[in-house]
Amino acid sequence: MASGRALLSVEGVETYYGNIRALNGVNVSVDEGEIVALIGANGAGKSTLMMTIFGNPRARRGMIRFAGRDITELPTHEIARLRIAQSPEGRRIFPRMTVLENLQMGASLDRLKHFDEDAEKVFTLFPRLKERLRQRGGTLSGGEQQMLSIGRALMARPKLLMLDEPSLGLAPLIIKQIFDAIKELNRSQGLTVFLVEQNAFGALKLAHRGYVLVNGSVTMSGTGKDLLADPDVRAAYLEGGHH
Ligand code: ATP
Repeated sequence: MASGRALLSVEGVETYYGNIRALNGVNVSVDEGEIVALIGANGAGKSTLMMTIFGNPRARRGMIRFAGRDITELPTHEIARLRIAQSPEGRRIFPRMTVLENLQMGASLDRLKHFDEDAEKVFTLFPRLKERLRQRGGTLSGGEQQMLSIGRALMARPKLLMLDEPSLGLAPLIIKQIFDAIKELNRSQGLTVFLVEQNAFGALKLAHRGYVLVNGSVTMSGTGKDLLADPDVRAAYLEGGHH
């Protein structure tokens, strides 16, 4: 369960696209050292929540706090500077840049002096990237692009890593590698992870705690284990073998 030190807290957040409300007063918290999963169907508002935390779109109501500080109105580049890193939906690596250049883009200027050390950590996690250093991002497989997207986020030495659907479109074996890597980062470095996923089974197995988002509202929360065992969660998200 939560240890009581919220690194990220989202309190009563409402987000709109024009007049359409996509988030209806969402409450979510992520404690230091936790892996927290947000699960939900297509269009539930998962990506909107992740983007709202980054200030684009802005929360129209409610508050977002990071490390005790109110970041609700902070410009996106300043939010990133607080060492919140994200691997967005669709990965968004730079397709014409090489693997190495993509990693360099992830390391901010003052962290370039740690570049070799940090890159080595990424290669330990994803050895495949080291073998493809000079290959252009756009020519990598989907799984390799996901590894690169996470690797690039890690180069910023984040306190909080936010991942939007890292398993999307990947083969089960690759999904396992990605989830194992996230678990290892959390276990060995204590990295805090907020994960958005449609793959409820994988995400809840990995996460300490989880939230279920339905039509812009959190309808359930609990430990990953409890949610996995919950009959409603099973019926809505786990039946039919979405493993
Ligand atoms: P998915 O898993 O399909 O990405 P999601 O849970 O991440 O779904 P969102 O992408 O956050 O859901 O979308 C939530 C709602 O907001 C949806 O009804 C979507 O159509 C709407 N929406 C998202 N982006 C925009 C936008 N730029 N303009 C208008 N409506 C949007």
